[in-house]
Amino acid sequence: MARIAFGGFQHETNTFSPVKATFADFEAPDAWPGLTRGEALFDALAGINLPAAGFVQEARGLHHRLLPLLWCQAQPSGHVTRDAFERVSALMVEAIRTAGALDAIYLDLHGAMVAEHVDDADGELLLRIRQLGGPRLPIVASLDFHANVSPRMAEEASALVSFRTYPHVDMADTGARAARCLHGLIGRPRPVHALEQIDFLMPLTSQSTLVEPMRSLMDEAIALERAPLEVVGLTAGFPASDVAECGPAVYACGHEPTVTRRAARSLAERVRDREHEFALEIHTIDEAIAVARGMTPARGRPLILVDTQDNPGAGGNADTMHLIRALDGARIERVLAGIICDPAAAARAHEAGTGTSIALSLGSQAGSPGDAPLHAEYRVEGLGDGRFTGTGPFYLGSRFELGPMALLRCGEVRIAVASRKQQAADQAMFRHLGVEPANHAVLLLKSSVHFRADFGSMASRIMVVEGPGPNVPDPARLPFRKLRPGLRLTPGAGSSA
Ligand SMILES: [Zn+2]
Repeated sequence: MARIAFGGFQHETNTFSPVKATFADFEAPDAWPGLTRGEALFDALAGINLPAAGFVQEARGLHHRLLPLLWCQAQPSGHVTRDAFERVSALMVEAIRTAGALDAIYLDLHGAMVAEHVDDADGELLLRIRQLGGPRLPIVASLDFHANVSPRMAEEASALVSFRTYPHVDMADTGARAARCLHGLIGRPRPVHALEQIDFLMPLTSQSTLVEPMRSLMDEAIALERAPLEVVGLTAGFPASDVAECGPAVYACGHEPTVTRRAARSLAERVRDREHEFALEIHTIDEAIAVARGMTPARGRPLILVDTQDNPGAGGNADTMHLIRALDGARIERVLAGIICDPAAAARAHEAGTGTSIALSLGSQAGSPGDAPLHAEYRVEGLGDGRFTGTGPFYLGSRFELGPMALLRCGEVRIAVASRKQQAADQAMFRHLGVEPANHAVLLLKSSVHFRADFGSMASRIMVVEGPGPNVPDPARLPFRKLRPGLRLTPGAGSSA
């Protein structure tokens, strides 16, 4: 039995979003727990599809003594404030310092966190913890598939274990893999690692492991992970991040330097060979409306329009109304859209009550360029307190806390409204308001890829649609300044150098 400390500090930073992540954002619960310290972590994480939850379950099964540090996350947004990064890091370091003699540490990180004063925030945190633990202590971190893996992260961790799916249905499984990896490292020499950074940015909507080319590339990564290797990881990177280490990467670690390097290099070559297949596919709203008009709606088989640019899971504000306005204006029938974050509208709907009609200027509170609130008469069709449990494979077990919610109807468009922003990746988010997604002809979802886990199988067709918002789907349109020379902004196209 080993004494293992564990904790987590997650943020995916869209450096192009002006809305920063403060300490209060890490304290607040949403689909996942707010900042939690010590023994309370066990209950807070139990049963949720999160890496730390999977780690705890697996490490207990391996009969280790677990010492909970702290765990927190905030919704993807602009930079983490200096104050938030330093306060959370100090709490983590202090908790490790007072935990007594440790045999290992596990950290549940995202891997694409950027603080106001530190570009490689995950690498910085790992460095501080490594300095505390010493060079030989096994420190394993799990990472999101969207990690921008840096040489410092690879250097300071004993091993990095990343998700294998996008939508991330294997978050808890990844934590369990990290537990087994850590178990195998205790009492052994530290493994060697190899990191191959890939020199092109992958648009988010081209990264899904449900479709080619990522599906078969991930299969190849999984097949490579066998002794003497501990880990072979393929991460797609989070492209809306203006840092030198932005981009996809292949990581391997193991006990044979030559085998480790060869595995990383061969998989990186396979990714490079298929670069052109990652090209962005995106449609205008006019094209989407033409498809919606031309189709013969089949019950239970909606057309899914993907509003990736306003996806709060990638730093959007979940409040643009541009696509909703266009669908309403075109009189497309049986539309369900969501989730729009507008606390004032939700409060008004709760005051008015179900079955009433209210005049509202809905959405667009964050003021995304090219967007405006939709002023109209809305019928209140449903209300909810925003507290419900995720049922789809991505948010499975998540105990949502989205504040007052309402289902508002404007013409043929139903809009699910919440008081906190959250990516529309679970049907429970709509069912909480008494509305069944499958009964609609068109679903407009504020997501990029995660919706596919719970909505993908019902879609008659999926179209990624251009709209306003900070999650610009084509990295070539972002005003980068800090990328490393030679990194291509578009798969197969010109270089940033
Ligand atoms: Zn991710």
